[in-house]
Amino acid sequence: MPAPTDDLKVQLTAFLRKNHPEICRHWFDEIEPTGIDGGVLTLVVGESVRRNYLQRTCSGPFTEAAQAITGRLLAVRFVGEVGDGGDTKVAATSGGLAVAELEEQLLLSPDYTFDTFVVGPGNRLAHAASVAVSANLGGAYNPLFIHGGVGLGKTHVLQAICQCVLRQRPSARIGYLSCQTFSELFLGCVKSGRMQDFRHRFRNLDMLVIDDIHFLSKRDQTQEEFFHTFNSLYQAGKQIVLSSDASPNEIPDLEARLVSRFNCGLVARVDKPCYETRVAILKAKTALLGLDLPDDIPAFIASRVDTNIRELEGSLTKVRGFAMANALPLSLETAKRALADDRPSSGVSTKPSIQMIVDAVTLYYDLKLSDLMSKRRHKSVALPRQVCMWLARKHTRYSLEEIGGYFGGRDHTTVLHAEKKIENTRNTDLDLSQAIDRIEAVFQRQTPVG
Ligand code: ADP
Ligand code: MG
Repeated sequence: MPAPTDDLKVQLTAFLRKNHPEICRHWFDEIEPTGIDGGVLTLVVGESVRRNYLQRTCSGPFTEAAQAITGRLLAVRFVGEVGDGGDTKVAATSGGLAVAELEEQLLLSPDYTFDTFVVGPGNRLAHAASVAVSANLGGAYNPLFIHGGVGLGKTHVLQAICQCVLRQRPSARIGYLSCQTFSELFLGCVKSGRMQDFRHRFRNLDMLVIDDIHFLSKRDQTQEEFFHTFNSLYQAGKQIVLSSDASPNEIPDLEARLVSRFNCGLVARVDKPCYETRVAILKAKTALLGLDLPDDIPAFIASRVDTNIRELEGSLTKVRGFAMANALPLSLETAKRALADDRPSSGVSTKPSIQMIVDAVTLYYDLKLSDLMSKRRHKSVALPRQVCMWLARKHTRYSLEEIGGYFGGRDHTTVLHAEKKIENTRNTDLDLSQAIDRIEAVFQRQTPVG
């Protein structure tokens, strides 16, 4: 017979997945209810970052679930281990600042770990360097400087480093904060005459991680103070990790002495993800959320959104929200309807999306999308597929690799071959050239002009 807490655990997760899917994560299965005592349901969550996430964002839904399942007025408490009082303090820094401030600074998301980080051509170096740094603080690359556009995973990888280090060494003294927080703390300490506290805190770290360092401004003394913090940590062989939206040389307002210090370790750029990576990221996100999604939805979203990963996730959220609000199944059809109003983010608005091309081709040849994506090489499928590839090359800005990836993970040489073949054939084959004209007319009608 299962223990009563097993039952409770299953019911809790089921209730949350049904009523609060947005907070659910795949690791919720590892949360252990240990029993109800004095009106409090205690739940054990070993990892502190996860526990903080639950305390911060999930107390309400868990309380609601516990009350609905037991029919009793209960409170919930998340603890690190059985018998733990439920102290919420996060790792690990001594020094003169108040605990509230410390917690503020080490707010890490359990979603941002190396396990959930998908590696592709655009972020391979940044990822490898981050892993190396986590394994050897101060000894691999120092400083590690990661830069790139918005929504490309800089914050994710910085937090992954922190969590990886904390897992190996829970007592490691880590300062993880945004540049703005660093500035505010500094100016606050200046104002209240607590500079000793500030210096003690920041110069005694094992690792200092500052996100969005491009916000360092020349206007106040923060840049000066940061320079000294940097030097004192660097000289002591302590790890420094920074992120920025531009390379050190391109940050406006950055003093030359800091530019040269940022350049003396490893500078790694993150670039936009390619189509395959976008699909893999969407799949990783759905796994993390414990969602069951047909494969064609990630492929569809990834073909429409190529700007950054935050927007990619935004589209996924939109599809889920649309499906829930309209009580629709999570299908490709639903995804298309949910995103119907969104202009594809790639290129300018006068360009058709690859999806519009595919729709027009499948309509003309009376095929299914899955036929085009399949491995079948029969002429009835191979020719329309090649037409799609040729049209995608002509009308979109996707690379050979991206187009190949889109059509069932094919190699770029396949796309190149298709492009040449259609180009040659349509000059001699009147049927084919008329077919192409008609297909183009269909998607060009849908493409806004101007
Ligand atoms: P940035 O700090 O560069 O603006 P973030 O780190 O906030 O970007 O990333 C935006 C979102 O995209 C986050 O939800 C993050 O988890 C996700 N993301 C970015 N890169 C990856 C990746 N390689 N694998 C999985 N998720 C990613
Ligand atoms: Mg960021």
